[in-house]
This record gives sequence, C-alpha cells and structure tokens, in this order.
Amino acid sequence: MIDIKTKDFFTTISNNGKVNFEYIYEQGLLKDNSGKVSNFPHKSKMKYYSREAVKEFEMWNEKGYGIYFLPNGGGYKDAEITDFRSVFADLDIKDEIEYEFINEGFEGNGAELKNLVTEKFNSLNNTEKVQYKQIFMRRIDELRTSGLIPSGIVETKNGFHVYHFLKQETQKHQFEAIEGLLIYCLNGDLAVKNPARLLRVPLTQHLKDRNDPFKIQLNEWNPKISYDAESVLSILRGIVAQNNKESLLCVNDRKKPLYNTKELSKAGGIPSRRGIDYSLMMIGNIPLISQGFKGLPELKKRLGLDKQPELCYIDRDDIRQYLKKQNLKYLLGVESDRFFCLFHNSSNSSSGTIYPHGDKYFYKCHSSNCGVHYDIIQIIERLTRLPIHKSFDYLKELYNIAEVKTEWQQDQERLIDFNTEFLSRFKYDIELRELYPFLTKFLDTKGTLGLLIQIHEVARRKLPQLAKVKGMNNPIVFAPMGKVIEDVLSINVSSLRNIDKANTKAVILIFMFLLNCVGVSELPDELQKRAREYQQKGIERNGKTIHYTNMSRYYEVVSLDTDRLILAEEMAKFFYEKGLTIAGFNREQVLRLRGSEDANRIYPDRADEEISSLNQSITSEIERVVAELFHRKRYTYDNEIIDNLVIPDFDIKQEFRNTFKYIKNKKSEAIDLLEIQDNDVNMLRWYRNFISKKLVLNMPVIMHHEELSRTRVNKSIRNKFGIPENVKGYIYHENFIEEEPLKIEDKASHIRRLKQEDSSLSYIKIAGIVKCSKQYVSNVFKRKD
Ligand SMILES: [Zn+2]
Repeated sequence: MIDIKTKDFFTTISNNGKVNFEYIYEQGLLKDNSGKVSNFPHKSKMKYYSREAVKEFEMWNEKGYGIYFLPNGGGYKDAEITDFRSVFADLDIKDEIEYEFINEGFEGNGAELKNLVTEKFNSLNNTEKVQYKQIFMRRIDELRTSGLIPSGIVETKNGFHVYHFLKQETQKHQFEAIEGLLIYCLNGDLAVKNPARLLRVPLTQHLKDRNDPFKIQLNEWNPKISYDAESVLSILRGIVAQNNKESLLCVNDRKKPLYNTKELSKAGGIPSRRGIDYSLMMIGNIPLISQGFKGLPELKKRLGLDKQPELCYIDRDDIRQYLKKQNLKYLLGVESDRFFCLFHNSSNSSSGTIYPHGDKYFYKCHSSNCGVHYDIIQIIERLTRLPIHKSFDYLKELYNIAEVKTEWQQDQERLIDFNTEFLSRFKYDIELRELYPFLTKFLDTKGTLGLLIQIHEVARRKLPQLAKVKGMNNPIVFAPMGKVIEDVLSINVSSLRNIDKANTKAVILIFMFLLNCVGVSELPDELQKRAREYQQKGIERNGKTIHYTNMSRYYEVVSLDTDRLILAEEMAKFFYEKGLTIAGFNREQVLRLRGSEDANRIYPDRADEEISSLNQSITSEIERVVAELFHRKRYTYDNEIIDNLVIPDFDIKQEFRNTFKYIKNKKSEAIDLLEIQDNDVNMLRWYRNFISKKLVLNMPVIMHHEELSRTRVNKSIRNKFGIPENVKGYIYHENFIEEEPLKIEDKASHIRRLKQEDSSLSYIKIAGIVKCSKQYVSNVFKRKD
C-alpha cells in the first residue's frame, strides 16, 4: 500500500514534478566488475512516489540498498541542480557527541576526536540514543518558536532530517547561505548541505546494521508551510546575531559559517548588506590582501616586491595591461588551478579557477549562479573593498609602478580643463551669453554644447596615448563620431541621421573656429595609419558596412581665448544672418559663400574635390530661375522656384529608381527596368523633396550674392510687393530698411547712444536704464575697441 502522507510530501516538495531517486548499497563497500571499490549507486528510473516506485524500493531494500531521493530538482550533480525546493539539516547523534567533547574542552587533533566519538557512540544503549533525539527535538522546537516551523521532520536511525520547503525562484547563493546558517543553528552535520544531497525516503529501511534495521519515519508533516528564501535568511541571521547563552541554538562555534557574515557598511549610496569576510578566509594571501593598504608592506615582502626598482608609465592603459600580466596564483597565494570560488559561498571545490589567456591572467567562477569573470583589478577591488581609484593605487604601489605625466601632457590637461569649464558657463552665465549672442544661439541648439564638451573629454582621455606620439602640438582627438554621439546623445548609435547631424554640428564648430580640423596628411605617421584603418573598417549599420570618410575626422583642441571667441561670434553671426541651417550646411555652401580658403580649413581632406556636375547644373538652374522671377516681380518663394526649374540632363525617373537600389534584397537591374508613370505620386513627392534640399543649400548663397532677404509674409510686405493672398509662408525679396532691427544689436547700440549723449553716465547707471548687468555694459565698450 502507498502511504498518503508520504506521497503528499513528495508531490508538495516537487510541486507536482519529478523526483530523482537513488539506491546505495549500505553493507559496506564492495569491488565492482572493474575492480574499483564502490557502494554501487543506482539511479532509479522512477520519477514519482508511486505504487510501482514503492515496490521497487522494497525490492532494492531487500538486496541491502538504502533508498534515497534528492530534495532539489534538475539532476543528480550539484552543478545540475536548478530547482532549489528545500533546505535541510541532518541532526545526527555523532555530531552531538562531538560537540560534547569540544564543550568539555577537548584539545586533540581531528582523528583523535573522531575515534573518541565513534567509541562513545558504539557504547550507547537505546535509552541514551532516545535522550539525544530529545535534545534535537528541543532545538527544533526553539527554532520553531523563532518563526521557522519545519515543513517536515523525518526520523532516521540516529537523528532527524529537518526540511524547510522553499518557494519557487530560490537562487543557489540563497540556498547555500541558508544551509550554512541552519547547520550552525541546529548543530547539524556539516557535510549535509550540497544542492544535490541525497536524503532517505520515508517508510524505507535503514540497513547499515543488518541485524538492527530501522524504518525511516515521516514524523511531522506540515503541507502548507513553505518559505521565501530571504525571510528564512533574515530569521536565521537574527538568531545568530542574538547569540543567547541560554539558547540551545548556535552552540557549536566550530560550525559558524565563515564567509557571508561580514556586515558591509552603508557607504557610497549602497545599502548595508552581508558580504564575504575575507579576513577570515584562510587561503594564501587573501586575509592580508583584505587588509588593504595596511597589509601592503607585508604582502610586498611575501611576494618579493619590496626591493624592486620603480617602473614609469605615461599611459594608465599601459599600466592596466602590465598589471593583467601578473601571475594571479602567485598574488593570491593559491597553489592549485581550481578551488572554491572566492566570491560566493561555493560548495564546489573547483568552481573558482585561475587561467592564463595570452600573456594575461584571469579569474573565472564556473558556478552558474555566480559566474564572475575578473581581471586582477576587479579581484583586488573585491578583496580589499577599496574604491575603484584606491584599488588601482594599491596595485600600483604593490608592483612599484609610477604614473608620470610629461610636461606637454600636464599643460594640455590644464588647457582642456579650462576650456571645458569655460564652455560649461554657457549654460548659466548670463553675461557671457549676452557677450556672444550668436554663438550662444548656436551652442543652445540641441546637444551642441554637450558635443563640444564631449570632444574635449575624449581629448583628455586620449592624452596619455598622444603623449607617446612624437611631433604633436595641441592634442588631437581621434573621434569617430559614432562613439562621440553615443556618449553625447545617449542614443542607439544605429541612427545614422543622428550621427550625421552631430557630424555636421562638429563641422560647424570648426567653421566657427571653436575646433581645428587637422588633415590626415598632416598627422604623425602613427595616427595617419589609424585613420586609414578606421576608414577601411567602416561602421556596421543594419548588417551593412558603411565607409564614411568624415567619420574619422581629426579635431584639434584650441585655446578658447577672447580673441578666438570674437572670431567665433563673427562666424556665428554670419551663419545666422545668411540664413544658413544645420541641416543644409555643407562644403559646397562654404565654398560659394566663403571661398576655397575657408573650405579647405574646414574640409582639409577634400581640398581638391570638385563640385559634381549635376550639383553645378542644379545650382545654375536655380540661379537662373530666381533671377528671372525677380526680374518679373521682385519676389519669389520656394514652391514657385521648384515649379519653374528645368534641370538639363536630369532623368527624374532614373534618379528616382536609383534611390531604390539601397533597399535590401532588390536587384538593381530589375529596378532599372521598372516602369514609372509620368504622374507617379511617389516620384513627384521625392522630386520636390530632393529639390527642396537643394534650395536649402543654394538659397543662402544666392541671397548673399544678390543681397536678398527671406521673410515671412506679413501685411506690409504683402502690400509692398503686391503678393496675392494665396501665397503664404516665407518669401525671398529685395533688401529694404527694416523697421525692426535685431534686438541683440539694439541693446548694444542703445548703450552706446546713451554714453554718446551723456558721457558722464556711469556703467551702473547705463545698466540700470538698459536693464542689463554692469559687466555687459563694460563689454560693449571693450568690444568697440
Ligand atoms: Zn563564484
């Protein structure tokens, strides 16, 4: 007959799932066929506590085998356990006897103690054994009053197996931490704590002594009791912390779990928590390392590093590379390649490994729940618990490394710091913003100021590497835009449009003299090589490699002194007064508006590049149409220009087809043959869009040369030029004296006029009248000089 209570126990622990059973020969060890001594473990095919299973248990019991099961699920090996269903403790009479000896002051070695325990155990009569079992029950009861009611208690021949079932989703490290504490609390068997532990099945026979078999009993069964791992941990930690002398719990200090007991202080915004106490981990140099700088002189002595000459490095990255080459086994003082992982409470003696890779050493944990993969710097951070920069200093001191900076490097660092600090002031310094209004307007456009600061930060990071390159003046930033943009806009780099935009902004910064651009041919050889490599590699976008010439532009950080800012303000003013836009800004525009000198300054790597013949003919056609329309009626607007354009040799259909070629999996030959109607809506839409972009590019140049203005239609303009009602939005027209000059200029001339009218007026008085700061007034007059 199948026992209902026991069946319930198995279905509950496994949550109606499978249970692994195993049979082990209990009458001593025997030689197997291969001559190996074995207890003949046999994995059962039974996966449920069923009638067939019970029949099989009885059969194997008769052959002298003990019947076991795995409380946890997933497999038969520790590493295979994925389902942590229950924690358990094995309370055994021998553990209790051992504790008695220790409590009485036993001071011999382990083997002696073991002999004494066995001797005493063998002398016990049945009454005495029952008395021991009563001690266990009192312990379990005390635990019960602290809030941990067992889910089940199984009586074995010499003690009890106590189960506390766990709710699903328990992690391995939680299981391990609970086991350590539970064993300490109940004085359980230290060996019975691994995830794939085998425990006895109720209602089967304990057969180690064939003449005195014992039937395993499920004495207590509380089917509704199961626990959340964290709450078990907090109860157990509470019990350990109380350390009550009267208590029957936590009596044997030799079973106190060693590692996860250190209370880590609440620091740096991290809440306090339990961590491994490395000062108690008696492995090699680890306790010494855990002392941090205090233990450093002794550690240096042990490693023979105390009398070595100092090594000098310019580049922190080089130091990192050097540190990674240090033998980790030697540093930690471990002898074997595999050991208990240092960073979690591991029950697997080979979870932690140190392995060489190339000429470097790494640490890897093979436990799926920990799995850390560290280099020397991370190991030291964790063992010393020093902040990131201090642990780097610790390693530098340990290995006698000096980080040096060249004079050039120090100088450039200061320049970059001054620049970044100055640029940040554009965010809040009203006076500075008033002094450079057009520049401020540009830096205020989304992400621009951040981009410029970011380029400076990249330059600062690259300084140590650049310090090693010969023939450098100012720091040069090799700034692949993809990387810079990722940092600045914190967006997914796959957005080409955003990269393009930031790239253009960087070019405009060069246009405004806030950065210099260095032609690849002017770079030191080493950097030339890197630039070519980067261009060749291209960037991955949606499975395609894009080769982008501008992507590897080299920027030079310049001193942002007042002279340069005056120049920048002039260029910014030019930018806005000529109606230039970020979207339309390009080399062709610069070439037409400012000539080849500026174009070559901004695009040094494209000095010889001609404007394409298509663009040239589009430009002259736009010029022709605008001139004709003006001749007729002194104003025009975008749609009118587009309607009148006739671009020679421009095959609209083919140009439209060409835009298809970039669509994935479409063959261009097929596209070339595609039939397109003259009035195809998509084609017409594409064409207007295409030409609009050309207008954005060309109109500022035409306006500059023809002295035209662009204004939104209002009543006075409508009357002045006789514009019909249906024309709305912006129009181009001849310049005429504006009734309302620019506000920013107005303020400055107001100040000048006041001073001219009454030269005795003080700056403060003027500031009061104009409603600005005294500094602004003083700057206005400075600017004039
Ligand atoms: Zn680990």
